[in-house]
Amino acid sequence: MKALCWQGKNSVSVEQVPDPQIVSQKDAVIKITSTAICGSDLHLYDGYQPTMERGDILGHENMGEVVEIGKEVKNLKVGDRVVVPFVIACGECFFCKKELYSCCDNTNPNAEIARKAMGHSPAGLFGFSHMLGGYAGGQAEYLRVPFADVGPIKIEDDSLQDEQVLFLSDIFPTGYMAAENCDIEAGDTVAIWGAGPVGQFAVRSAQMLGAERVIMIDRVPERLRLAETASGAETINFNDEDVYDRLMEMTGGRGPDRCIDAVGCEAHAGKTLDGALDVVETTIGLATDRIHVLRQAIMSCRKAGTISIPGVYVGVGDKMPIGALMNKGLTIKAGQTHMQHYMRPLLDKIQSGEIDPSFIITHRLSLDDAPKGYEMFKHKKDNCIKVVLKPHGEAASRSNGEIPSRPGAH
Ligand code: NAD
Ligand code: ZN
Repeated sequence: MKALCWQGKNSVSVEQVPDPQIVSQKDAVIKITSTAICGSDLHLYDGYQPTMERGDILGHENMGEVVEIGKEVKNLKVGDRVVVPFVIACGECFFCKKELYSCCDNTNPNAEIARKAMGHSPAGLFGFSHMLGGYAGGQAEYLRVPFADVGPIKIEDDSLQDEQVLFLSDIFPTGYMAAENCDIEAGDTVAIWGAGPVGQFAVRSAQMLGAERVIMIDRVPERLRLAETASGAETINFNDEDVYDRLMEMTGGRGPDRCIDAVGCEAHAGKTLDGALDVVETTIGLATDRIHVLRQAIMSCRKAGTISIPGVYVGVGDKMPIGALMNKGLTIKAGQTHMQHYMRPLLDKIQSGEIDPSFIITHRLSLDDAPKGYEMFKHKKDNCIKVVLKPHGEAASRSNGEIPSRPGAH
């Protein structure tokens, strides 16, 4: 089959690789009908995530049709249409029983590498380095899905298009858990750094959970515009304004009640000194992560507020303002998303028409064009916000890069 393979920093290519096989009787193999490129893939593309190997197949936002199942798979049958969560979970361990699926104890065959780096190993993830399982991803024609009874959710309503349900595989639940981790109270002001796909879903989710005001921070005009037009967010362009000063101005000096870092380890510095130092330190190997956004969130958050970190960090960052964190009495919650906990209730929201997640899609490409998609998404060319890939060709088309908007949105 064809698959998009990581070849090294800033290099991916479409290659012929062996078809995936059933390895355990709990596996399924699916034919990918739609898959997407995620901001997390950019950390791999940019060479931030350790333990990538040449030839690794990328892609963790996947859906398709079941074409083969192992003997122990009970919940699926050949022909089912499924969305597959990016987190692989066993469903039976201490953590899965608590529905903390991204902490699953049993799905990372390379747990020892992760344990040495982090103290404990999180769950295995599709297409996301060897220290997180070494599983092939789904930017390919077919995908092997381990623990197929625990992850994939069946889409039984044929009137729902792939593009409406695809993001149940990652970024809609991720935006939702990011907002939930903030413990939003009615009337709260929530500041969100990063107007990428995760940030866009965090805005909608914060509103669903009772936020009165949402302030989106980024520097990419069309992304800020999408947050305004599609979701009614207020915006700050960090290239034009000092983020802390502007947030204080907008909140009467108190600061936002809740802050969400939907940027992660590759934060841009803007005009800040600490951000510039991050760039130097990560370049010379003194740190692995640029934690500028996290610092800014800690400094800006109101006293006794909450900070949620869906943005991916991979190792260590420098100059953490631990004094501000402690003395202001802040709470921080973070994590890879506990996907399986959120997929069903969020599918219900899509089905009831409360949200149509396709509002963030700007580009639809064939698998052959995936390398172009990576370049476009990374450099925000052609107003790119989200790329969907169609490995089997159907409806492969390209938008004109116009910003979608949802009339009458909140
Ligand atoms: P993206 O790369 O499209 O968006 C990131 C945005 O952050 C960009 O628009 C960029 O301009 C903006 N940004 C950069 N520096 C900034 C700064 N200093 N201040 C404000 N904004 C800044 O990525 P995405 O797909 O939206 O994903 C966002 C993050 O969420 C990534 O780190 C990704 O790895 C992570 N993620 C986490 C999970 C999870 O389970 N926790 C799941 C999916 C994605
Ligand atoms: Zn993702």
